Amino acid sequence: MTVGIVGAGQLGRMLALAGYPLGLDFLCLDPSREAPAGAVAPLLTGAFTDLRLLRVLARRCEVLTFDWENVPAASLREVARLHGARICPPIAALAAGQDRVAEKRLFERLKIPTTRWRAVSSRAELARAIARIGVPGMLKTRRLGYDGKGQAVIRTGADAERAWDRLGRAPLLYEEWVPFDCEASIIGARSRGGELGIYPLCGNVHGGGILRLTCAPFGPRRWQRAAAAYLTRVLEHFRYTGILTLEFFVRRGRLIANEMAPRVHNSGHWTIEGAATSQFENHLRAILGLPLGATHALGHSAMINLIGLMPPRAALLAHPGVHLHDYGKRPRPDRKVGHCTLVEPSAARRDARTARLLEDLAVGVRIP
Ligand code: AMP
Repeated sequence: MTVGIVGAGQLGRMLALAGYPLGLDFLCLDPSREAPAGAVAPLLTGAFTDLRLLRVLARRCEVLTFDWENVPAASLREVARLHGARICPPIAALAAGQDRVAEKRLFERLKIPTTRWRAVSSRAELARAIARIGVPGMLKTRRLGYDGKGQAVIRTGADAERAWDRLGRAPLLYEEWVPFDCEASIIGARSRGGELGIYPLCGNVHGGGILRLTCAPFGPRRWQRAAAAYLTRVLEHFRYTGILTLEFFVRRGRLIANEMAPRVHNSGHWTIEGAATSQFENHLRAILGLPLGATHALGHSAMINLIGLMPPRAALLAHPGVHLHDYGKRPRPDRKVGHCTLVEPSAARRDARTARLLEDLAVGVRIP
């Protein structure tokens, strides 16, 4: 059975690595010959909009999935229409996640608390949005934003001018700035048959808009309950198949949805070693209609992203119990090139060991 992956980044690579023990094969499509999944699975090289290559993928694979949320939804619709390809997660969920305004409307419709926001497509609309919502606020591109790209914080009139000059060519969204106490995410799967599997809540620390550290399980039970209920609403709304992620700001014990990702997620990488079944395996099980695996934590995990340049392998592995994942990418500032995970029997031990590792790696973040 072959799974087609549109996109061959590190997420595609980890999907393939999780699928081989289940006896699955993979075929990926990516514009880059050097894409990380290409080192572990056959790769078709070309644009995500190349209908000829998408047709090859559709013909040779049981099911198509994607590892990047900005894969053009229109191309996937076309390949589904023309070649009857089965695409999971649903294209409607992908499309909602690609547009911050559609995403906010979805949260509101499903009564999932989110930030106050306004769509902005002119200087005058930006001024009205600021007058209505106040400062500080965040101006974000509606589309193609990731890892903090396409965003600007607005505190003053001069900030607003600068932000408009930088971002104003694309449709935008202005939202309130949330002085959050912490950030969290929840990841869960819904299978073709409607079975649900939801992981423990993750506590996330970002720096410069990029995820640096995830600790799981995280937070009190009532956060877990609220996050799981919100995630379930979205999963059921789309009659979803696969893994879905919801990210939150937590302010005074209240969860405020920031965004959703219709795919396996960086904040779920700890599940490879730290949960009974990894998010990657459960995504595959879900989209192939196989029973889901258990989602409970096997201990207290921390996942540290390796960004820019891989640290010396031997130095990292000298930390007992460290699991290393090198994505095989060329170094570049702000690029996620790998991650490492620790799983410990207690949160206190996990935090102590994580602090040491962060110091060694010179990652300047605090444990959530
Ligand atoms: P995003 O691309 O929307 O996930 O934003 C990346 C990161 O920027 C978030 O995880 C937060 O750390 C920060 N951020 C984004 N929007 C806001 C906001 N409205 N208030 C405070 N921080 C934010």
